[in-house]
Amino acid sequence: MHRIHTRIVGAVALRSLAEVCITFRYLAHTDSPTMWQSYRVYGAGQAKLAFLKTQQGYGDLPNFLDESTLHAIANEDTWQEYVDIDVGHWASSNLRKLATDCGAKDLYDKYYDWSSGFIHGNWAAVRDTNFVSCHNPLHRLHRIPRVAHRSLNSVEPDAIRLANDMIAVLEKLFPGDEKIPRVAITGREASPTAANPGLETDAPHS
Ligand SMILES: [Zn+2]
Repeated sequence: MHRIHTRIVGAVALRSLAEVCITFRYLAHTDSPTMWQSYRVYGAGQAKLAFLKTQQGYGDLPNFLDESTLHAIANEDTWQEYVDIDVGHWASSNLRKLATDCGAKDLYDKYYDWSSGFIHGNWAAVRDTNFVSCHNPLHRLHRIPRVAHRSLNSVEPDAIRLANDMIAVLEKLFPGDEKIPRVAITGREASPTAANPGLETDAPHS
């Protein structure tokens, strides 16, 4: 509706999808009870940590936090007193290594690095979306802020690829007679990524 797939939020969502997809591929690839458990216990620990912070903080809670849900998740599998909080990575590894170990390095290389810039709000992402080069020759090609961020190439085809990748893994884990329908763009046109103006410049200013 808001062409969110061409906005910064789209890139952020793609980065999340890439991480979820690689994590899922890794879990399915190793398919060991220890790893599935480790993934789950780590998550419960994160809920416990967030819940404890709501108890110790000052002032109002951030609006997005739901205290009772955090408490419920932290205590869902085990009473939270017995849940460890692991401040490291759930598999004591990193995503790059997980990707390499499960044959998903191509996904990592394609989708992870550039989209991570948007998560971290680093200069390249800010430059890409919110600055244009000034045309005034006296200004020595300095960059000036845009009023609104530029429309980016759509993340839609990439998001669909990652979603379908995960559906294929799911099918392997739970084989059945019926194929799970794949995600596809239907009904309307795919995003006109080819027409994207890219890093256009702005009219000269004085
Ligand atoms: Zn200028």
